[in-house]
Amino acid sequence: MAAASVTRLHPDSDHELHHIYDSRIPVIGVGEGSWPSLVQELRRLTGLSHETVQQRLNGTRKYGVSFEGWGRRNRDFTHYFTPQQVSYAYHLSADSMAELLHQSARARHVDAKVLNITRVEGGAQVEFEGLAPERYDLVFDARGFPAELHPEQHIDISFIPTDTAVIRRCPAIVKGEQEGPVLQPTYTRAVARPHGWIFIIPLTVHTSYGYIFNRDVSSLAEVESDFDAFLETDGVAEFEQRAVIPFPNFVHRHIYDGAVARIGNAAAFMEPLEATAIVSAQFQIGMVLQMRLNRSVDYLERDAPVVNRFLVNNMLCYGLIVGWHYSCGSRYDSRFWRRARDHVWPRHRKAADPRVVDCAALGKFDDMIQLMKQSVIDKSDWNRMCAVPLTSYCQLSQGLGC
Ligand SMILES: Cc1cc2nc3c(=O)[nH]c(=O)nc-3n(C[C@H](O)[C@H](O)[C@H](O)COP(=O)(O)OP(=O)(O)OC[C@H]3O[C@@H](n4cnc5c(N)ncnc54)[C@H](O)[C@@H]3O)c2cc1C
Repeated sequence: MAAASVTRLHPDSDHELHHIYDSRIPVIGVGEGSWPSLVQELRRLTGLSHETVQQRLNGTRKYGVSFEGWGRRNRDFTHYFTPQQVSYAYHLSADSMAELLHQSARARHVDAKVLNITRVEGGAQVEFEGLAPERYDLVFDARGFPAELHPEQHIDISFIPTDTAVIRRCPAIVKGEQEGPVLQPTYTRAVARPHGWIFIIPLTVHTSYGYIFNRDVSSLAEVESDFDAFLETDGVAEFEQRAVIPFPNFVHRHIYDGAVARIGNAAAFMEPLEATAIVSAQFQIGMVLQMRLNRSVDYLERDAPVVNRFLVNNMLCYGLIVGWHYSCGSRYDSRFWRRARDHVWPRHRKAADPRVVDCAALGKFDDMIQLMKQSVIDKSDWNRMCAVPLTSYCQLSQGLGC
């Protein structure tokens, strides 16, 4: 996505762009839910029509997330994009999206392992295994999750109570059309289960299922067995076991320093409850390129910390919104849900303390919660946002019974 964005936005056709990857290190390959801004962005980046893009992605139109069994009201509800039932995102094949963007990037592709990225005067130097180092004006570091978290580099957002996913692939429940894209509205299902929750994402080629849980609270055998029971009641007769993926929940403190921009899973990660990863990458790439391509380089040293704080703040707000989903428990009075509601979510105040994270995410999140508590919300506040619009906060709050 970064390479395709540079290709489209760089004003000087003479620039040199290298796309570096290590073919021995696979991409994570999940990431099938998105936000509406991706629909516009893919059209811009590829120059293809919406219809063609959707078909190339084996995609369906996602109008929101349908929550089953969450919260204290024992009532299912939907978190719609705004405006409701108009705005849609994609459910997409992650591999196909990478392929589509690859074709839109005019870059030299370099298959080599990166050993190190260091800031140097006026840019950054990249060291490779088996190749001479190269110096660049700007580096997007998209190497995926860090192997481990370090408090001086990463904000640990473990007020989110999950850390592992089991992925299964099942037959398609939405069938592709012979001609044209599937127009039928679809929703990501997020179904509360005793050990966590299950996502169900309908694509035209298969349906993706994932069980999200905490490996210190539940064993893999317990989760697999509950997953089997769920698929049986959901009428799914066959599945392909795809992967078991452990993940960290974190925000990098230094997303952008003027020469190196961390993006995607290298910048931040949180469990996929609201599918925030691709939209975060769009944000990171968009902000950095806007500043680098439109502002004089004289401002770079002053701009970089401002952009960094903005991005950290935004990622942390996403984290708070995801963690908040657990604050009212679910229909299950299980060990996982009691711990998530009573012990893990309450840690968010300490973890997001502005003195610790150097940004105002917690205050902004609290303001949105306070706004919803007012007996009348003034019209001038209707368009307020804290990572997501006020309408999203209200739908979640009413649905969960907060
Ligand atoms: C269970 C689960 C569900 C998810 N669902 C969603 C979702 O619905 N929506 C969403 O938006 N996101 C979702 N995600 C997030 C998803 O992982 C990201 O959207 C997406 O994969 C971003 O990946 P990335 O490119 O940052 O990292 P990766 O996919 O990990 O890619 C890393 C790349 O860096 C290269 N690399 C790594 N190290 C080196 C090195 N030393 N030298 C050279 N190259 C290197 C690799 O070759 C690879 O190409 C989900 C994640 C999980 C775990």
